[in-house]
Formats: sequence, structure tokens, C-alpha cells
Amino acid sequence: MIKTLLTRLEQGNKTSAYPKKPVTLIEEYRGLPEIKQDCADNLVQLCSENCPQDAIDPVAKRVDLGKCVFCGACEQLSEGRFVHFTNNHELGVSDRQQLLVDSAVQRLSILADNRIKKLFGRSLQLRQVSAGGCNACEADVNVLGTPFFDLARFGIQFVASPRHADGMLVTGPVTVNMKTALLKTYEAIPEPKLVIATGACAISGGPFFNSPQSLDGVASLIPVDLFIPGCPPHPLTTLHALLQFLGKI
Ligand code: SF4
Ligand code: SF4
Repeated sequence: MIKTLLTRLEQGNKTSAYPKKPVTLIEEYRGLPEIKQDCADNLVQLCSENCPQDAIDPVAKRVDLGKCVFCGACEQLSEGRFVHFTNNHELGVSDRQQLLVDSAVQRLSILADNRIKKLFGRSLQLRQVSAGGCNACEADVNVLGTPFFDLARFGIQFVASPRHADGMLVTGPVTVNMKTALLKTYEAIPEPKLVIATGACAISGGPFFNSPQSLDGVASLIPVDLFIPGCPPHPLTTLHALLQFLGKI
């Protein structure tokens, strides 16, 4: 017992002060992209043809962050003249259309309506459903439970039963085999309930889009309240989206 207490004293408090103090991410982190509309058409076309996700619309000169896996190929090919990834991790949106990014100064936002704040602002219990993902999204959601992020200090927790949950956080493209399980989980959550699509897979099918085994995202089955892009989204992206959605920041 004394040994445990001494270890705790020696280690001190490991929890970050976020959101009161920002967390600095490494330089290589790819966050919200800046899109340069003055880029030459042929270069945009080249980026579009080389995008593994079909996420670039060469006519509108626009990137769909709901499909993007942040591989960086378009930034490298265009040497930053079409796409330049910034360090901004604030990527969550409540309106899917906002993920279509086409400007240098675009900022994404989440509409936290007063009803959501009142109902779930002080306590939000979520059931996580892995609907056929690769496990990286799930792993980075798990990270939110570690002492550094300590999600529970905001009243947000993951629960085992959908009957105890206020909503569902879904990862993965929703495979054909997971369709029934996802719908049954959704039905078991009492009203009013929230649905959060986390990662490119859950938003659009991600790397599995157009596969006959994938339903290309949660929104093809049930309404989604919050979209968190990334492959996987950084834990800070998910934390920021949840806090903004609940009106805590
Ligand atoms: S970073 Fe996104 S938009 Fe660019 S090539 Fe990769 S998947 Fe496509
Ligand atoms: S979005 Fe990327 S990291 Fe998340 S489950 Fe799909 S492939 Fe894996």
C-alpha cells in the first residue's frame, strides 16, 4: 500500500489540462487541410487521379474529409500548391456537408443545440460498436480512457449495454455481417439517442468504400448526429468534437 502511494506521489498528475491549455501535436500530424483554389487544373487533376479514396473533386477543387484517410499523397504530389495539411485537429462536424473543404481559411464547426447540452451536457454514456473497422479507430477511442485524456472527468463514459447508453459511437464501414447487430444495438438504446460516426470508414466506408461487403458508413442506415473524420481520428480530435458537441467548450 505504502509503495503504491509513494509511486503515485512520484508520478504526480498525468492528466492534461486540455481544454484549458492546448496540447501541442507533432509537426508531422496532418489535420485540417488548406485548399488552394489558384492551383493549376492539371495538378489538381493529377492529385485526384492519385487519391486512393476518390476524395478529391477536381472540378470544384475540393477535398471530402469524410472520405480522406490523410495519407498525404495530394500534398506531396502538389508540393503544397493544392493541398497543405495544417496542425489543426478540430475536425468534427454535425453537418456532413461541412466536410467538403475547398478553401484556405475554412474552419469546421459543430452545432451543439441547447437540447443536447441540457440532456447530455453533464453525463453522456456511450456504447461503442465496432462495425467492421481495422481496430485502429477503436484503439484510439480506448486512448481517451487513459490518464492523459481521462474522458470520464467530463462525465463521458463507455458502457457495456446499449440499454444503459445515451448513444452509440460507431467505428468501421458497417459490414454486411454487422448490419443486424448495429441496428439491434441502435434499437436497444432508449430515446432520445445520439449517433457518432468516428473515422473515415464510419463516415463513408473509408478504404472499404464500394466493397460489396461494406455499406459505406453509418448514415446509410441511421441518422448521424456527429461526424469525426480521420483514419483513425486523433484522440484529441474526438475529445474536441465531443466537448464542443456537448457545449463544454
Ligand atoms: S490525403 Fe486525403 S485527399 Fe489527399 S490523396 Fe490522401 S486520401 Fe486523398
Ligand atoms: S477509418 Fe481507418 S483507422 Fe478507422 S477503422 Fe477505418 S481503416 Fe481503420
